[in-house]
Amino acid sequence: MNVQNLMAELERKHPGENEYLQAVREVLESIEEVYNQHPEFEKAKIVERIVEPDRIFTFRVTWVDDNGTVQTNLGYRVQFNGAIGPYKGGLRFHKAVNPSMLKFLGFEQTFKNALTTLPMGGAKGGSDFDPVGKSDAEIMRFCQAFMLELWRNIGVDTDVPAGDVGVGGREIGFLNGMYQKLARKYHTGVLTGKGETWGGSILRPEATGFGALYFVEHMLKLAGKSLKGATIAVSGFGNVAWGASKKATELGAKVIAISGPDGVVNIPEGMNEEMIDYLLELRASNRNIVAPFAEKFPQATFTPGKKAWSVKCDIALPCAFQNELNGDDAAELLKNGTWCVAEVSNMGCTPEAIHAFQSAGILFAPGKAVNAGGVATSGLEMTQNCMHLSWSGKEVDEKLHFIMESIHEACVKFGKQQDGHIDYVKGANIAGFMKVAQAMLEQGIY
Ligand code: GLU
Repeated sequence: MNVQNLMAELERKHPGENEYLQAVREVLESIEEVYNQHPEFEKAKIVERIVEPDRIFTFRVTWVDDNGTVQTNLGYRVQFNGAIGPYKGGLRFHKAVNPSMLKFLGFEQTFKNALTTLPMGGAKGGSDFDPVGKSDAEIMRFCQAFMLELWRNIGVDTDVPAGDVGVGGREIGFLNGMYQKLARKYHTGVLTGKGETWGGSILRPEATGFGALYFVEHMLKLAGKSLKGATIAVSGFGNVAWGASKKATELGAKVIAISGPDGVVNIPEGMNEEMIDYLLELRASNRNIVAPFAEKFPQATFTPGKKAWSVKCDIALPCAFQNELNGDDAAELLKNGTWCVAEVSNMGCTPEAIHAFQSAGILFAPGKAVNAGGVATSGLEMTQNCMHLSWSGKEVDEKLHFIMESIHEACVKFGKQQDGHIDYVKGANIAGFMKVAQAMLEQGIY
């Protein structure tokens, strides 16, 4: 395999799809060496096949807003790779959603899901619907209209969507209600992230953030460091930022910054429990601004227009959106002495930022390993649903712990360099790739 030739071919097939091309390039660069030691992969053209989605559904979603105006959005489901199990991955509702974004996310999901140790293929979906400023009733009508199209393409053994940016417990509820009505199937497993009273995993809301901190704990332990007393800057204030802040605080770290599209909130003493729980209220308001946090808590100060990366911290946790931490941000963090960056958002850092962290020799881990606890807990939710039982929070947390430890081990196994340094980007990409590639190989040319 030759990365430059493969990328040139992909750019020709998918012109302008920059996020998708960026995600593919990162994986190809990581796996090149290992791949070339496996002539059987080359013969079966595994890499040419694995970079293309199995199929994509695109559909129109028409709904009526509170003013009685008819609105039309686009809906998508990208079923990326089903080699190791039914398609699995979230739905993203955000104004910037387009096929390139969902292909990048579906591609990432394929490797991430392989890392979880559970049998799940990769998928992603969503819409360019913008939830900001929408009423609950508008969100419900949009979710219902979206499911009216999607329902024929999903199922417990085919494709199981979940939440992502802009899709949380409330949206999963509206989507599931409509699915059951259309499919006349009252099973509980076609979506994950469900409510506790209707088949949901008790720990799913916290899982991505909790899992990320378990991963960071293992990474720090191996490096002879600890979370105790460490200062953390977190971007975003959604479910993921909430779970990460909660677990980081529990483990003895201080979350001193959170941010939104409007600016950054600095909490020099670190967030307390009340502040962390307020994040959920802030997110549920659908206003997508973080400034009200500083109005509510006088210990906090709000700086408009600044990112979380402007705050001096030991550990940076991007928890919001792809490419939210760029080369300039990386330089600022490094200047301020940051010694660990763990992506909790998918592809949270630009290639320039990753390069800066790796050249500086600080600890860095990629989203597909760090945030895999979310989809892993979704996998556990699917297991509970098909076994018709429900595990306690403690049971799920133990399983999540075990999975994050296994992911960390796999990254170390495949990412250990000759000088003993762990390249977590390489480790995660090679570990995920090897599993999916082997599964594709054994199932023939299809
Ligand atoms: N959207 C989440 C992710 O990026 C969760 C997917 C799921 O639970 O299926 O992994």
